[in-house]
Amino acid sequence: MSQYKINEVFQSIQGEGSYTGVPSIFVRLQGCPVGCPWCDTKHTWTLDPQLERNANEVMTEQGESEHWFDHTVEQLLALFSAQGYQAKHVVISGGEPCMYDLLPLSTRLIELGYSVQIETSGTFEILTHTDTWVTVSPKVNMPGGKSVLASAMLRANEIKHPVAMEKHIEELDQVLTLLTGPNKPLIYLQPISQQKRATDLAIKVCIERNWRLSLQTHKFIGIE
Ligand code: SF4
Repeated sequence: MSQYKINEVFQSIQGEGSYTGVPSIFVRLQGCPVGCPWCDTKHTWTLDPQLERNANEVMTEQGESEHWFDHTVEQLLALFSAQGYQAKHVVISGGEPCMYDLLPLSTRLIELGYSVQIETSGTFEILTHTDTWVTVSPKVNMPGGKSVLASAMLRANEIKHPVAMEKHIEELDQVLTLLTGPNKPLIYLQPISQQKRATDLAIKVCIERNWRLSLQTHKFIGIE
């Protein structure tokens, strides 16, 4: 039976990429070895057994926490019901969600009529239902030493790349060489931390390349 180690579950509006504006249930899985210096979810990195808590305790915590709980697919669905969630789109993020086999969870959700999206760094094999919308934010040359996999790039429905400087565009160009098949994912540039310089660069390159701009709209309106 598949078990998922979960940092938080909440309902909100998807703020990034193609599903921007869509009411969504977010399932944030615990654990990530990639080590991006600007990561805004560093509290999800460690999978320390001593930080396991029960679901009730984690669900009532305020703010960021390194605590996590362990749930099966059916327990997670029961949690959705108990919380009264109404969104029909589920975003599985992390941490790095592809450290887990997402096939059981995504398959059950799709059977129940949810649409499913995962947000991954592209550094792990992606195991998920074929109808899952896969967002790859390729993390290149990060301190964790993980490489972006060609299989992840080839599975992507959208590539969403955080940018702050020209170097990040060059890194994206480098990983885009992995797209050797017929798959043509949408490409989004997302300015890091809403910096003006980053935003100006992203707009300029999106226009030059006919790529798309992704803004972290949830941060502008002050929601999670
Ligand atoms: Fe953070 Fe995502 Fe990078 Fe992991 S891959 S360190 S969760 S930004």
